[in-house]
Amino acid sequence: MIITFLAVIFIALLLFAAYFGLRYVMNQGNIPLDEVNKEKCSLCRKQFPKNELLVREVYDVKVYFFCKECIESLNNELHN
Ligand SMILES: [Zn+2]
Repeated sequence: MIITFLAVIFIALLLFAAYFGLRYVMNQGNIPLDEVNKEKCSLCRKQFPKNELLVREVYDVKVYFFCKECIESLNNELHN
């Protein structure tokens, strides 16, 4: 009797896990392409499409993204 009870709980847990696992996988696929192709500028922290950012790698690990505005402001600082 108790074994049947445990088996039912086990199957219920299995279905529960499968349901949420499936939902998780479905949600992963639902990330809008806009979000995937966007990255934060390393200086001003605003989000920009990746193709509008300048990318610099440091020591093969750190990747910095710079937006046009920040590059221009850095350029202005350099010339003043
Ligand atoms: Zn910026």
